[in-house]
Amino acid sequence: METTGPAPIPFNKPFIAGRELYHISQAVLSGHLAGNGIFTRKCQEFLETTYGCGKALMTSSCTGALEMAAILCDLEPGDEVILPSYTFVSTANAFHLRGAKLVFADITPDTLNLDPTGVEERLGPATKAVCVVHYAGVACEMDAFTALCAKRGLRLVEDAAHAIGATYKGKALGSFGALSAFSFHETKNFISGEGGALAVNDPALVERAEIIWEKGTNRSQFFRGITDKYTWVDIGSSFLPSELVTAFLYAQFEQADEITRRRLACWKHYQTGLAPLEKAGDLRLPVIPAYSGHNAHMFYLLLENGDARDALMAFLRQRNIMAVFHYIPLHSSPMGLAMGYRAGMFPVTESCSARILRLPMFYDLKTEEQDRVVGAIREFFGKA
Ligand SMILES: *Cc1c(COP(=O)(O)O)cnc(C)c1O
Repeated sequence: METTGPAPIPFNKPFIAGRELYHISQAVLSGHLAGNGIFTRKCQEFLETTYGCGKALMTSSCTGALEMAAILCDLEPGDEVILPSYTFVSTANAFHLRGAKLVFADITPDTLNLDPTGVEERLGPATKAVCVVHYAGVACEMDAFTALCAKRGLRLVEDAAHAIGATYKGKALGSFGALSAFSFHETKNFISGEGGALAVNDPALVERAEIIWEKGTNRSQFFRGITDKYTWVDIGSSFLPSELVTAFLYAQFEQADEITRRRLACWKHYQTGLAPLEKAGDLRLPVIPAYSGHNAHMFYLLLENGDARDALMAFLRQRNIMAVFHYIPLHSSPMGLAMGYRAGMFPVTESCSARILRLPMFYDLKTEEQDRVVGAIREFFGKA
């Protein structure tokens, strides 16, 4: 007879802060359900005042925010954008859609963030922009990237999908790049199902950003009374979310500190529990450089090799613990290969992608559940 195993521990569980439905009811009663209403503005103000973003524009996804950023980079066919291969597809798609050439670069083995040295080696006359990804909410080396982009007149874009509330030398991530994109997908720290925001930190880009955001029209200027007609003036799309989405999100923003505090506590509990295994050389835990104030977006392990990772993942699944891995390197994906990249070109990316395992991490994760995860990993290594 089959016995029921221990209760499943999911990889992610969307957190509900409490006032989501109340805010949605306020939006419904207000009669304004389309975008750019009260809750959109409340969310934008929150991002601007809390994280020092220049102008924030809410979007339907981080993917959309990255697409807006790519349009604002004014790329022409043949222009090059340098970005990591170890990232989510949207980072690359946004620039590819503009006809730019994607120039992948490798990551550093400590933080799995873009390596400034590799970026410098790939700079050329066609380079127009650099897009950094703050992996797991741990900051990239922003002094190096800011200096490099300033010196060469390049646009710096931050894919800050993981990084809301995280800092570099005390300054919020998302406030460094000319353009930065946040995600509120249900797997991120603050959520609205799908959702995102673009931070426009270069004041010279704000006016055009608003036009692109509103389908290529000067609607925002019209409503501010700057122009007396509302018409098609540039390319654009419908990047803005419904008020129902921003009403939900605002409830999460109200609990932002509490969400980050709780996630950091979970993160530290894993770190403490797994430190002896790291000491014994069984695995490697995330490295947090002194310049990085992270937001506990993710807790991952690096195993000795791909076989060990697959074996541990299967071992945890047998115990109803959902651990996952991600980022098939973009350069070795079918799209990357079609662009002329080959497997073997970015050894750190390929090694980390094969060896990484992400542990369950969400607001409601219980200490007992974490102890079960840690216990199972210890058992795997024969240290139970
Ligand atoms: C989640 C994620 C995105 C895309 O976010 P969406 O809001 O789902 O569009 C982009 N880049 C990175 C690094 C991500 O993790």
